[in-house]
Amino acid sequence: MTKSALESRTIIPPHPASGTRFRSPVRRVLARPHPLLAMRSVEADPYNPNVGDLADILVATMRISPGCVSLSAPQIGELARVLCVDVGGHKKARSCAGLVVMVNPTIVRRHGALILREECLSVPHVTGDIVRAAEISIEGFEPRTGRLVRVDADAIEARCFQHEVDHLDGMLFVDRVTNESIDLHARKSRV
Ligand SMILES: [Zn+2]
Repeated sequence: MTKSALESRTIIPPHPASGTRFRSPVRRVLARPHPLLAMRSVEADPYNPNVGDLADILVATMRISPGCVSLSAPQIGELARVLCVDVGGHKKARSCAGLVVMVNPTIVRRHGALILREECLSVPHVTGDIVRAAEISIEGFEPRTGRLVRVDADAIEARCFQHEVDHLDGMLFVDRVTNESIDLHARKSRV
């Protein structure tokens, strides 16, 4: 997911974080109506080195994409249940676990409801006001180590995890809009 169109265009500079390799290649992010974006991703083996490499590429692609604070594997053409989130530096973030990369993530707790404006690299030119849980807990596995990771998130971070899990299920934020004339908005062009 990208920062809200209503917020500043601050670009998060790349910074060292555990588990990332900055020489990883990056991939083009697919945009709708690419058919892969509508497909459900399959579970992946966190110990598989290829999955680790995919996670690195995913993080590198997120890092070089201006304003991007989360990304999922199907967006770069791989139907594997891998996502990454890093809301560090986002001025509206409350909880912030730093860079989180998860294989086979599962939302294990949802609480409350909140409407927030969303946008997505895979859905150019459109933003949407989407209702989702205000707080979540999510569990998944760290690539390569297989370590179980749990994150309790709220505000922007909770929103990003829910948005990316949707991608793993073949769903875009626009699929959650109930009234397009009210809830969808033209996105201001980015330079
Ligand atoms: Zn997205």
